[in-house]
Amino acid sequence: MTVTTRFAPSPTGRLHVGNIRTALHNWLLARKEGGRFLLRIDDTDAERSEERFVDAIRADLDWLGLTPDGEVRQSERFALYEARFEELRSRGRIYPCYETAQELELKRKIQLGRGLPPVYDRAALKLTDAERAKLEAEGVRPHWRFKLAHDAPIGWDDLVQGHKAFDPRTMSDPVVRRADGSWLYMLPSAVDDIDLGVSHVVRGEDHVSNTALQLQMFEAMGAEPPHFAHSALLTGAEGKLSKRLGSLGVDHFREEGIEPEAVRALLARLGTSDPVEPFVEPEPLVAGFDFARFGRAPARFDEAELKGVNARIVHQLPFERVRDRLPAGMGEAEWLAVRPNLHTVAEAAEWWRVIEGPVDASVPEEDRGYLAEAAQAAGAIDWADDPWHALTGRLKERTGRKGRALFLPLRLALTGRAEGPDMAALLPLIGRERAVERLRA
Ligand code: GLU
Repeated sequence: MTVTTRFAPSPTGRLHVGNIRTALHNWLLARKEGGRFLLRIDDTDAERSEERFVDAIRADLDWLGLTPDGEVRQSERFALYEARFEELRSRGRIYPCYETAQELELKRKIQLGRGLPPVYDRAALKLTDAERAKLEAEGVRPHWRFKLAHDAPIGWDDLVQGHKAFDPRTMSDPVVRRADGSWLYMLPSAVDDIDLGVSHVVRGEDHVSNTALQLQMFEAMGAEPPHFAHSALLTGAEGKLSKRLGSLGVDHFREEGIEPEAVRALLARLGTSDPVEPFVEPEPLVAGFDFARFGRAPARFDEAELKGVNARIVHQLPFERVRDRLPAGMGEAEWLAVRPNLHTVAEAAEWWRVIEGPVDASVPEEDRGYLAEAAQAAGAIDWADDPWHALTGRLKERTGRKGRALFLPLRLALTGRAEGPDMAALLPLIGRERAVERLRA
């Protein structure tokens, strides 16, 4: 079996952390199995779909490194849906309904009032041909429902949720097409999954009951259903479903200096029994991807955790991956020297200013003499090899200082800061001339 997965966003907004995670799961599974990862643009809703969101979805996936192996758009596939619809209709699996939204709402209220589940009562199936003709003559356009088979329970072995079972008698026949002819999500999705040979439908837990309905659609269309994996939902750091998650997307991550590698590393492992590890390359995430490791409890997304993973990613990024984003003139040696101190790549610019100078250092009065001595020593040592150890070794010998008293005034004078990258890496980059000057000042 060739594994084919699909990520199926509706272009009604930007991607957010929840659907980025779904895209990632689909991508990881396809990569792991040597299969295909498709992007399906669910744009059957012409009013709410926007072209700018289609472009943004592509750009976001690209930034995340989740490039699809193919793309289809539902708006270009209406003829296929129409053909399947006609087939199902001719076999009585799709039927016309004439109730208005208000009538349906009233029926629901009555059922709820009687303590009954608000399941559609199939009144439309009881209409006679004459009644239907009358309604049509009055200009009432039908909407269409898929008729669920009531003869057997619906069940499947979900790759994340385990065995799931639904009683179709407790479910309303889903509306698949509106009176204006437009399509609802449910049927086109199943038609596409069949037509595109989708082997695994990987999506959020919020689709579990849709799956029950769609399983009957696969069956009605004579198709072997795909495997299903419904990952547990994502909650905010407080453990609650949070509105904020819906607004956290690629733009926000970029503004915060988050690398795509960090988003991938965190989201691939969130909610699984594997630890989150700062993998720069996707291979270990791909190799370890396994639905059996997924938990059923909601997974917590914590921005602070993302920032932590990001820092650990930045500490490993090779120069080639960041060179375009570094200040002009900053080279590999400078990058490698400052990298361990960064939370974001953008912070490299601050250390570049420290290397280039001028630095704004205020050193305590009592260290002035010591620094004058240091300036002299800096002029005298051999800079070719390891100037920091040469300098501090010499000063230790001459002044008897050690530890903090030896190092801190030097760091302050040379960088203007009490903390920062390893001075042994930084000092050669500052260089003899600037070092002597800063120690003198
Ligand atoms: N467009 C649907 C959504 O974004 C797709 C669900 C699915 O994966 O089938 O919820």
